[in-house]
Amino acid sequence: MNFLCLDFEGVLIPEIWQYVAKETNSKELMLTTQDLKDYDELMSLRMKVVNEKNIKLSDIQEIVRTMEPFDGAEEFLGWARQNFQVSIVSDTFYELAWPLVEKLNFPTIICHHLEIKNDQIVSYSLRQNNNKQKVVEALSNLKYKVLAAGDSYNDINMLQTADKGIFFQAPQHIKDEFPNLLTADNHEDLKAHLLEYT
Ligand SMILES: [Mg+2]
Repeated sequence: MNFLCLDFEGVLIPEIWQYVAKETNSKELMLTTQDLKDYDELMSLRMKVVNEKNIKLSDIQEIVRTMEPFDGAEEFLGWARQNFQVSIVSDTFYELAWPLVEKLNFPTIICHHLEIKNDQIVSYSLRQNNNKQKVVEALSNLKYKVLAAGDSYNDINMLQTADKGIFFQAPQHIKDEFPNLLTADNHEDLKAHLLEYT
């Protein structure tokens, strides 16, 4: 039994902060890990907007509850869980993502925490730096063969450390930077890449 690590946003669900951007008219929140390589820079920007616009945790949670996983994501995840040990490995936060985790029947997810005071997001706490890569390394140390899929700059270390790393619907500019990685355009493609490891 091999292990499959899946990025969350961009692979199984849409980008949470882009929904928040639309609902709160905050253009700066449209930027994602597909645009900025430095995750701390991206999160600092998000925190600045959240504070300036006084966007509360409950406001974001309400928006997230209206979101749905990608078409086909639930079916793909069901197939994956029958054939691999699976964990979502994400740079999102439990406090934001949980309604979508629920919609996918509570798969394992390794991600970060937000620090909340009186419904205000005061800061964020990363599990550890470079968490995605470290998860893959930890699983390798447990003697698993590790497959991984993701769509953005924050997945590169995970994808390159895994025994097999696959881009899922990554934008062309990122694929061009890392031409050594396999690519999948949809969940069926991804399944096809994974089949030989089942
Ligand atoms: Mg992503």
